[in-house]
Amino acid sequence: MTYEHILNKIRTCGGRISPVRSAIIRNLLAQDCLISYDDILSHLKKHKLTPNRSTIFRELRFLVHHNIIHKHMIADDAYYEIPRDHHHHLICLACEKITKILMHDHLVCESTKIAKKNQFMITGHSVEFYGYCTRCHA
Ligand SMILES: [Zn+2]
Ligand SMILES: [Zn+2]
Ligand SMILES: [Zn+2]
Repeated sequence: MTYEHILNKIRTCGGRISPVRSAIIRNLLAQDCLISYDDILSHLKKHKLTPNRSTIFRELRFLVHHNIIHKHMIADDAYYEIPRDHHHHLICLACEKITKILMHDHLVCESTKIAKKNQFMITGHSVEFYGYCTRCHA
C-alpha cells in the first residue's frame, strides 16, 4: 500500500485527510512493523501537531476500523502497523522488543483444514509469539 493508495481508500470511505491523519499514515508507512502509541505521539509532536488524546484516539480508531492500519495490544500497550507484507511477531515480555518474522506456508495449510473442519470462512489471521529475547533471557 502506497500513500496515494491509502488516501484513495480513505476518500472512498468518505473520510477527510486531516493533517493528523496524514501524519499518522506517513509515520506508519515509514516503518515496516509495529510502533507504539507513544512513538506516534512523538512523531506528531515533531511535526508540530498537538492534537488532544481523543482526536488521536478517534483517528486511530477510524484507520483501524477501515482496515488501513492494524492494532495489537502488547502488555496493555497499543501498537500499530500498516499491513503490507504479511508477517507475524516475536514479542519479548520483559523489554517489549518486537521482532518481525515470516512463517506463512504452514499456517495457510493449517487454516484451510480449520476452515473446513469448522465450516468457517477464514479471511485472515494474526499470530504473536511471546517469550524472552536473548538479552532478557540471560
Ligand atoms: Zn509487524
Ligand atoms: Zn527482551
Ligand atoms: Zn500468516
